[in-house]
Amino acid sequence: MRATVAGLHAEVVHYGLVVWTAGNVSGRVPGEELFVIKPSGVSYDELTPENMVVCDLDGNLVEGAHAPSSDTAAHAYVYREMPEVGGVVHTHSTYASAWAARGEPIPCVLTAMADEFGGEIPVGPFALIGDDSIGQGVVETLKGHRSPAVLMQNHGVFTIGKDPKAAVKAAVMCEDVARTVHVSRQLGTPLPIGPAHIDRLYDRYQNVYGQRSPR
Ligand SMILES: [Zn+2]
Repeated sequence: MRATVAGLHAEVVHYGLVVWTAGNVSGRVPGEELFVIKPSGVSYDELTPENMVVCDLDGNLVEGAHAPSSDTAAHAYVYREMPEVGGVVHTHSTYASAWAARGEPIPCVLTAMADEFGGEIPVGPFALIGDDSIGQGVVETLKGHRSPAVLMQNHGVFTIGKDPKAAVKAAVMCEDVARTVHVSRQLGTPLPIGPAHIDRLYDRYQNVYGQRSPR
């Protein structure tokens, strides 16, 4: 999991989702009450499997030479409250954060959004770093929602997935659709997709699309 999480940090750089040391990826250690997360303040090109940090589900450092990311409490809260989640990503990616700055959900106006998010990408509450309030806002917004991404108001994006790679994919897709819908709105009014069509697209993409593993 250290190697997986370290490698996925290179992906969020590759896709242009982060600058400087902002943003972080974490992954739950299968079968353990632990997760792996980025160390605080270490630049992306210095991240290795060895300097990843292991924390318990209260966000306490268990293993690692560095302090864990300053967003560790939020990641820990999500892992405690959502046992099905195996990966969490946080970014300040530009277009998605621009929607967050306005506190405006991204409307479902692209089939790719219906596929991946099952509807609009919702906005979570304004929350200050330092206690559980960011984690609470993420969980309150995403529990019972099909979207694996939430735009935390005035802040940025949190995404969840069954594993850290799925959470990174959601972060990449979130920024992609945030940009496209933003551009679309410059030229006119994007057309909504009806709820029944969203349901059909979401169901097909989640259950039929892609390579199925042999059983
Ligand atoms: Zn942040």
